[in-house]
Amino acid sequence: MPEGPTIFNLKNKLNRFRKKTVTEAGGYGEMDKSGLAGQQLLDIDSYGKNFIFIFMDFFITVHLGLFGSMLINKRKKSNASFSLHFDDSMINFYIANAKRIDGKPQDHFNYNTDILKDTYDGEFVLSTVQEKYKEKMIGDVLMEQELFAGVGNIIRIESLYRSKIHPDSLVKNIPEKKLVFLIETVVNYGFEFLEQSKTDTVKEKTLIYGRKICPKDKRDLIIEEMGKVKRKTYVCPKCQKLYS
Ligand SMILES: [Zn+2]
Repeated sequence: MPEGPTIFNLKNKLNRFRKKTVTEAGGYGEMDKSGLAGQQLLDIDSYGKNFIFIFMDFFITVHLGLFGSMLINKRKKSNASFSLHFDDSMINFYIANAKRIDGKPQDHFNYNTDILKDTYDGEFVLSTVQEKYKEKMIGDVLMEQELFAGVGNIIRIESLYRSKIHPDSLVKNIPEKKLVFLIETVVNYGFEFLEQSKTDTVKEKTLIYGRKICPKDKRDLIIEEMGKVKRKTYVCPKCQKLYS
């Protein structure tokens, strides 16, 4: 599944479509496409793993899910689930989930929690984690998109390793200083991921994701589905402390 930085990069490739007028909207997806033709696409943004197409009175979010993809001015043999056509160009989404929502994206998404946005507010995230998620395991909490928008499995695993925290640690038992460091690490690594994804080198440069041994002490990593999220998890039992 693409993580936030990948969507952020793809979104930047769509800049040329800003201010263009939609001539037709298509795709087999269930979203209501009536009235889209003739609307000017005012802006294109992203929030976490969502693309956002902004029109005057509404916006459309597109989520690629596990198998989705996007093509510009190209088609696959299979039908697009959502497409936007312009005079001389088009954007096609495959196996993607599009939703039309009235109003402005800022009223729908909390921009304080998107790890790649200038508006990201680490203090807000810290206090929310400590108040509302204290009984949860940190490995699960990092996948909460309302709190860590854009974080996927690679960012989750690499950030926990770099912060020396075991994913099964309960939030309430993790010292505040460690939580602050983890939140900073998620953002910093998110930007590293963003740069690496431009050259497709994210997986080459991970420290433990996709590896078998810890690069520091050469011990075997534990590799199994952990937590309630049931995602494949990599942990060094020596480097990463369990606050249980
Ligand atoms: Zn280690």
